[in-house]
Amino acid sequence: MVLAKCAWGAFTARNAAQTLPLWGRLRFPRRLLRNLTRVNGNASMPADPAQSVAVLNPLPPPYTGRFAPSPTGPLHPGSLVAALASWLDARAAGGRWLLRMEDLDRPRCVAGAADTILRQLEAYGLQWDGAVVFQSTRDDAYAAALDALKAHGKAYPCACTRAQLAQAPRNPEGERIYPGTCRNGLLPGAVARAWRLRVSPGTIAFHDRIHGELSQDVADEVGDFIVRRADQLFAYQLAVVVDDAWQGITDVVRGADLLWNTPRQMVLQTLLGLPSPRYAHVPLVTNAAGQKLSKQTLAPALPLTGCSAVLAQALAALGHPPPAWLVGATPAELLSWAGAHWQIECVPLQSAIAKPTP
Ligand SMILES: [Zn+2]
Repeated sequence: MVLAKCAWGAFTARNAAQTLPLWGRLRFPRRLLRNLTRVNGNASMPADPAQSVAVLNPLPPPYTGRFAPSPTGPLHPGSLVAALASWLDARAAGGRWLLRMEDLDRPRCVAGAADTILRQLEAYGLQWDGAVVFQSTRDDAYAAALDALKAHGKAYPCACTRAQLAQAPRNPEGERIYPGTCRNGLLPGAVARAWRLRVSPGTIAFHDRIHGELSQDVADEVGDFIVRRADQLFAYQLAVVVDDAWQGITDVVRGADLLWNTPRQMVLQTLLGLPSPRYAHVPLVTNAAGQKLSKQTLAPALPLTGCSAVLAQALAALGHPPPAWLVGATPAELLSWAGAHWQIECVPLQSAIAKPTP
């Protein structure tokens, strides 16, 4: 449902009801729980929380959202917008909000960055639930998932180097489409480097709560993608799918730069028998040159003082500008107002918005 106007003065109980999760659209079949057990079969892994819920309570699982930064540097105003949207969507639904450090790519991680991120989230009032999960401790679960794919012939070794793939065509996102060189076996003398997923032809359709109905033929537009990299690190796509299911994530709210990762993740979810969360991709924050704010574009770190002004700008970037009477409010007061007025329908569709200046 699209509201005619996101007018906060007209906020009513009817609007509040629209923020409730649509549980009927989530699927948690029994087959999934068996598969989760298999994927997380290592005895050292924590018990899957979705399992105990399913046994004790026939109701669907409660809203569980997450924020998953990479500790490659401090958060910047762009990452605040994504964290804030995810936090507000969870809190407005009365749900949990988990924190996962995506530190798979060890060479890119920066010592101390994870602690800095925690301090930044605390300064902005974005409190998380439970213990922080570090992907660097989860290799056994990713290995189990990859083994399951291999056992079903869905993953195969690839010997291609970056140079060998340099002539492959690119998709609209600028990624090289894998031409399937190693799909039917390695060429004589070739040495396996990475592992790729064998993607079946067909369109993956999904609903994004902000962007609407979308679809992609992953086989045509991406090709067989990497699930374990040549440097032996597990690929982001595999890890995020395994972790979202293991943590019982029902709702992913993240930056629009990850929008076209969603069909790939859904392919993996289907193959592994895991549920697909609901997805919402919020606009990216760009700098004056139109570049996404990131470490590469020298985005400034989120300051630990003057947080209210930065938070107000982030709320405005999400289509929820605080009213004038909240000028001078604390972060907690701003978040309280925003949580009561959150409507994801009011988040702008554009993938680039004005930079909130700290
Ligand atoms: Zn190859």
